[in-house]
Amino acid sequence: MIRFEDLLDRVRSYNPDADLELLRRAYVFSALEHKGQVRHSGEPYLIHPLEVADILAGMKLDAVCVAAGLLHDVVEDTLTTPATLREKFGEDVAHIVEGVTKIGAIPFSSSEERQVENFRKMLLAMVDDIRVILVKLADRLHNMRTLQHMSEERRIRIAQETLDIYAPIANRLGMSKIKNELEELSFKFLEPVAYDALKERVEAKRRAAEGSIEELKSRIVAKLGDAQVPVVAVDGRIKRLYSIWLKLKKQKIDLDQVYDLIALRVVTPSVKDCYAALGIIHQTWSPVPGRIKDFIAMPRPNGYQSLHTSVISERGLPFEVQIRTEEMHRRAEEGIAAHWKYKEGRVGAGRDEQYFQWLRQLLEWQQEVRDPQEFLTNLKIDLYPEEVYTFTPRGQVKVLPKGATPIDFAYAIHTDVGHQCVGARVNGRMVPLRTRLKNGDIVEVMTAAGTKPSRDWLSFAVTSRARNKIKHLIQAEEKVRAVELGRKVFEKEARRYDLNPAKLLESDKVAAALTEFGGQKTEDLLAQVGYGKVSARQLLDKLVPQEQLKERAPEHPVLQAVKRVLKPGGEPDRIKVRGADELMVFRARCCNPIRGEKIVGYITRGKGVSVHSANCPNVVNLQYDPERRIEVEWDKGSDTAPYTVRLTMEVEDRKGMLAALSARVAEINTNITNLEATTGDAVHATIGMTVEIRDMKHLEKVIKSLRGVAGVLDVSRGPR
Ligand code: MN
Repeated sequence: MIRFEDLLDRVRSYNPDADLELLRRAYVFSALEHKGQVRHSGEPYLIHPLEVADILAGMKLDAVCVAAGLLHDVVEDTLTTPATLREKFGEDVAHIVEGVTKIGAIPFSSSEERQVENFRKMLLAMVDDIRVILVKLADRLHNMRTLQHMSEERRIRIAQETLDIYAPIANRLGMSKIKNELEELSFKFLEPVAYDALKERVEAKRRAAEGSIEELKSRIVAKLGDAQVPVVAVDGRIKRLYSIWLKLKKQKIDLDQVYDLIALRVVTPSVKDCYAALGIIHQTWSPVPGRIKDFIAMPRPNGYQSLHTSVISERGLPFEVQIRTEEMHRRAEEGIAAHWKYKEGRVGAGRDEQYFQWLRQLLEWQQEVRDPQEFLTNLKIDLYPEEVYTFTPRGQVKVLPKGATPIDFAYAIHTDVGHQCVGARVNGRMVPLRTRLKNGDIVEVMTAAGTKPSRDWLSFAVTSRARNKIKHLIQAEEKVRAVELGRKVFEKEARRYDLNPAKLLESDKVAAALTEFGGQKTEDLLAQVGYGKVSARQLLDKLVPQEQLKERAPEHPVLQAVKRVLKPGGEPDRIKVRGADELMVFRARCCNPIRGEKIVGYITRGKGVSVHSANCPNVVNLQYDPERRIEVEWDKGSDTAPYTVRLTMEVEDRKGMLAALSARVAEINTNITNLEATTGDAVHATIGMTVEIRDMKHLEKVIKSLRGVAGVLDVSRGPR
């Protein structure tokens, strides 16, 4: 069992200037917080963070990172808050621990390839400091090393997750040492029977080959010595069980057919020596054709560099040789951690743009590209790194463009879920549908049967899928309404001439009308009338010979207005007009009525229905034709977008008046969008103020408080 003093020694050995005091404080804090907690093994919990910190020290990481390792579980498992960490250990340590905690909270569920890939990308997209990943990997590694203490169900879940998510991430970061151990352990827990059987067979082979490995090593050393090729180290080993197992499965072969069970590694001082060594090895043993790989000239996407070749020994034993420089070897083992050997005080990678660009690029190019289409898709992701990775409550990943909202998420699940969406919870909390989603958000969509998308959604939905579906449905509904209205209008028009509208619409003249106005069926003609593209009279003219059109009664003025105000696709205001939803409605500018107050509608000539306050002088004084009045009411929507209301004030012309008025309005949390003053005579001035008002009560409050300002003589609605 590791002791804290050992950890300090280890850190000191590679970084004599390390902030050991920080480590000591982190250790004491962690010990205090985890006091009394035990692991599944029955050991004190503190052992876990201590081991994690030791793994990080093994990677020669900076003191901040090692301290974060000591503290990585305190936010999740104790009452400690990130704020406390920030205060006690500084921004970086707190930030890393928070990141590790966040990653741990993500529900991961599927082993399906696409999901797994998205999950890995999302995980990395969430991280803005690579040390978060390093701590998480160290955490996972220690948990895997002690997995035998867990229940079988958890062993399998954690091992599968390790194999699907964490080992590939370690691989992408070039950290082959950690990747290998994670894979071996996962294999052991996931396939215990296959693992044991293979281990036994490979062990037997190893014993048989033991002599030959030693023999081969000394032959290489001797040969390279003869040729005066300098060598730092030569070692030999048996391939890892997991990679053998993969090979057996993939190539459907037996262990006896595995050519590179034995691998020798030659480490040289320089690149030149690598190629020289390769030449000598090929002179000594015959190479297997097609097995020579130059990853020095063409490094792997994760930065791995080495020369690989397979040769056959004199005794017919095939083996692989890997040749690389010391530096390449270190990077192959440690990967990104090798880049992260930190001098104290160096700026964190979170702010190192270039570094992260490189990292992200690496993640993209590392993908095993199976077909061109996939390559393009990946390239696209690369070009548009602005994506968010979100989850269903069951842990399924949904990749959405940046700026996506719960509506986009709902449509990404299913069209019906989108259409019937009535609300959303993000990370357990209700949010407005226009909320922009963030990486790692867990989104739960609430639906209600029979509800329909709102046109409003188009102002914030960003995915083309959601937008198209919304538009499509709205258009379909509008068409239904247009047909309905068109039919009504057409029927009235027909009756004016004592004609039977139903008969007219069944006559053989309909075909001619369709040719003229476009469309496939009678309904399309009515829709066009409803949309106002074709007038009822125009349609009538097509269906009835001119001489039969004998007018019966004078045209009804209101009906005339209805036809004119109809505007296709018009944005409805939050006002319902009794009997005719399709009319364009707007608030009259003279009084700007607001929600909650009594209103009346007035059918204007050609502009739709203007809605006035019931006590607007224009209406009260009957300046308008009473025949055009129409009943209107406020729509019972939940929309709380403010109304702008114009107020006019008569005030005494004194200094500071504008300031006093705006201060008073600000006091009651009201926005002023416009403010202007005009001086009248020497003592009076008129002030126009436009404010954002929620409802009648709010307006009354604003007017009341303005009236309370000293020097204000009168406050009235509307322009003077
Ligand atoms: Mn942990």
